[in-house]
Amino acid sequence: MKLVYETSTKDHKGLQLPKCDLNYELDDKYKRKEKLNLPELSEVEVVRHYTALSKETYSVDDGIYPLGSCTMKYNPKLNEEVASFEGFSQVHPLQDVSTVQGCLQALDLAKKYVCTITGMDNASFQPAAGAHGEFTCMMMIKKYHEERNDTKRKKIIIPDSAHGTNPASATMCGFETVTIKSENGIVSMEELNKVLSDEIAGIMLTNPNTLGLYEKEILNITKAVHDCGGLAYYDGANLNAVMGISRPGEMGFDCLHLNLHKTFSTPHGGGGPGSGAICCNKKLEKYLPNPIIKNEEGIYTFENIDSSIGKVKDFYGNFTVVLKALTYMLRLGNNGIRETSENAVLNANYIMNGIKDLYDVAIDEVCMHEFVLDLSRFKKETGFSALDVSKRLIDYGIHPPTMYFPLIVKEALMIEPTETESKETLDMVIDIFRKIHEEAYSKSVDLTKAPLNTKYGRMDEVTSARNPRLKYGD
Ligand SMILES: *Cc1c(COP(=O)(O)O)cnc(C)c1O
Repeated sequence: MKLVYETSTKDHKGLQLPKCDLNYELDDKYKRKEKLNLPELSEVEVVRHYTALSKETYSVDDGIYPLGSCTMKYNPKLNEEVASFEGFSQVHPLQDVSTVQGCLQALDLAKKYVCTITGMDNASFQPAAGAHGEFTCMMMIKKYHEERNDTKRKKIIIPDSAHGTNPASATMCGFETVTIKSENGIVSMEELNKVLSDEIAGIMLTNPNTLGLYEKEILNITKAVHDCGGLAYYDGANLNAVMGISRPGEMGFDCLHLNLHKTFSTPHGGGGPGSGAICCNKKLEKYLPNPIIKNEEGIYTFENIDSSIGKVKDFYGNFTVVLKALTYMLRLGNNGIRETSENAVLNANYIMNGIKDLYDVAIDEVCMHEFVLDLSRFKKETGFSALDVSKRLIDYGIHPPTMYFPLIVKEALMIEPTETESKETLDMVIDIFRKIHEEAYSKSVDLTKAPLNTKYGRMDEVTSARNPRLKYGD
């Protein structure tokens, strides 16, 4: 496909601006010396360019996207409609708060809902992504210990089954991370007890963890960490398996983050931007990022509190993303939220049980919203890898699952169908996995060459990752 610069033809215009009738001469020093190198295209050429680009890619609007840990669920169009209401989309963050009371009310309502769902006391929508939410929670935990002059606490415990962003966020905050090994896929109390000390600032727990398993010792974990003076953070990016059923606040956690752009159905992965909402209990609420929304006798205001960790993003976060998530919660209601989790878990178990006679499951137990296959035996017996299977899935028109993650499983394929897929689609996925298994064992297809039916074949992944050409003219 041609780049937009290559389709450009001199003097094609998409927009004709009216002649400037301002009697104003710009100072020479502000004037551009050379013409900007912008592509010259008419409106229809621009539309065709982007339509063609969109056909070169794959999205949830094309088909199932079972990317584990990413919750690529369908993004309801009603969310987009509400977020585009003029009263929401035509406001400016610097407007006087008296003129945007409805926007503040929407933020406050969304806050109440996420607090109810998580069992927490307060929330903020400032972080722009999940990892940003983790970072913000770590900043709050750090400040909590600092204010108590408990300055020895410089370590954060992270199980080896946690999401990869957890150690990165803790390290960015200046903490040292202590990894504990999981046993049969979950946190072992024995391993946890070994590392508890008065140097522990807290724990970061991903639940369900990256093996798609619910942490069985959760109440003992939060109690043990609290008993040693630390705080407990819950990675709730994948609340898709538990919302409406169990609440991190009641499990003893002090703070958490949610990915609105996963569980709460707002677009992500190129369709973003995201929102890494954070929730906390009374212990930590005075450290929430500024500003805080206040409601006094029906009047909403923003307030800056001295004890806050400060701002983590300009203004109030990605406001329209919060609106989309709020629409989603309102539309589902109490029962719908719970049903969503139940169906997410059911769908994952349905696929797992449809293929586990052929492929090995990393931990063969009832899974939550996702499960992990271990293709080491498959690789030994056929010579084909998890990567080859993923590439072959593209030939059958579905997006590959997450590969080689979590790191504790070799030849991992992490599959998360989400609740928005029908039984027919799940059956199709099962059939495709079974077919690829047959192709691999019968050697009827050389999977190392897949994808075979796409416009572009197997990429040179090393070169494309190390020397990407991202700019025209490079
Ligand atoms: C996706 C994810 C994150 C990170 O979210 P981003 O928005 O990509 O920063 C963190 N933890 C878990 C468990 C996740 O699945």
